Amino acid sequence: MSQPLIVAKFGGTSVADFDAMNRSADVVLSDAQTRLVVLSASAGVTNLLVALAEGQDQAERTQMLDEIRRIQYAIIDRLAAPDVIREEIDRVLENITMLSDTTALANSLALTDELVSHGELMSTLLFVEILRERGVNAEWFDVRKVMRTSDRFGRAEPQVAELQTLAAAQLQPRIAEALVVTQGFIGSESKGRTTTLGRGGSDYTAALLGEALQAERIDIWTDVAGIYTTDPRVVPAARRIEEITFEEAAEMAIFGAKVLHPATLLPAVRSDIPVFVGSSKDPAAGGTRVCNETRNPPLFRALALRRKQTLLTLHSLNMLHAHGFLAEVFAILARHNVSVDLVTTSEVSVALTLDNTGSTSSVDSLLTQALLTELSSLCRVEVEENLALVAIIGNNLSKACGVGKEVFGALEPFNLRMICYGASSYNLCFLVPTPDAEAVVRALHHNLFGA
Ligand code: ASP
Ligand code: MG
Repeated sequence: MSQPLIVAKFGGTSVADFDAMNRSADVVLSDAQTRLVVLSASAGVTNLLVALAEGQDQAERTQMLDEIRRIQYAIIDRLAAPDVIREEIDRVLENITMLSDTTALANSLALTDELVSHGELMSTLLFVEILRERGVNAEWFDVRKVMRTSDRFGRAEPQVAELQTLAAAQLQPRIAEALVVTQGFIGSESKGRTTTLGRGGSDYTAALLGEALQAERIDIWTDVAGIYTTDPRVVPAARRIEEITFEEAAEMAIFGAKVLHPATLLPAVRSDIPVFVGSSKDPAAGGTRVCNETRNPPLFRALALRRKQTLLTLHSLNMLHAHGFLAEVFAILARHNVSVDLVTTSEVSVALTLDNTGSTSSVDSLLTQALLTELSSLCRVEVEENLALVAIIGNNLSKACGVGKEVFGALEPFNLRMICYGASSYNLCFLVPTPDAEAVVRALHHNLFGA
């Protein structure tokens, strides 16, 4: 059995510029077990490449290319020996120019992925150079040699069995020899064309590679020191959580906390690999360990706030004691590709919120006139906006006594809507008017987690 391995992933802000890259290098070098580094593109670069891929006119293209060059040159210029790597980055930039000229003529998802992949190619080239200048035996590795995916460009699915075989044959031996630096987010399909795993996909890459190489731990370095009991910008007294389960973290993400996206951690969950989340700006501040089981799971773990909720209340007109009303409502929603988030029901009406997580469309575009018309033929429809969803995340919530008093006792002055409690033992949630949302979270946090 080889040495225990840690896979360390650094997000865009952690490789944004020369100083950030060096702080990330410090983090890598502080733990000898870290043998594989996965990087995002430098902050801002992917957005620029996506914009280029959308097809811009000549002037805009030039401006965007200049901006990308500026971000990467600012790093090169601070290297002790910039010349060799500058040539290499120039070649990548030429490629980007050529590809973006092509998108002006014709566009395809395959071309977009090819273009967008250059952000990660550049950040990893630069990071290797930074490590080498610090005397480290670092090696650049093209992740597309092992990250085999489907050809669903823009959101390709990894082919886990193939990845495993390829990683064992091609990546494992490199890790034995050198500190390996590779790209998050990108992969390749069976014909060798470049694919991407979807925006923010680098965490997913780290988890997939960690699984393929049977890593002991996956470290996700970003610009926040772990997961907090709630957003510290809303509640300054929010506390960092030392250890949390994947399930709790997933609940938080679903309810809008800016933590790891649950789907990206799936490989870590199924292979039982703990994930550590910390800040590369301030590694000494510690972070949060996310794993399958924690010691003494608390009843209340965290609070999440999700704004911009749309509440639909549907009153059936003459359906008292009739059956099939809900079935019909949900069939209509399904036909319009709308997925429902919260639901409460009474004898003659149903209230629900629309789920726009994970979709690029806003609620406005989900709630089309066609959908409203169809619903209106069945029932009276009331639409309310300007609501926020507050979610309490915890453990065994639906089986504990006194939860109601602890939660609602602190919220007397507020009008709470659509309380959902009992379907999941991990959460209790409700809606409040947006102007009250932060005050509600503060009052709750004070009551459940102290000052
Ligand atoms: N650079 C890619 C993005 O911005 C992937 C990532 O950062 O995880 O979406
Ligand atoms: Mg990112």
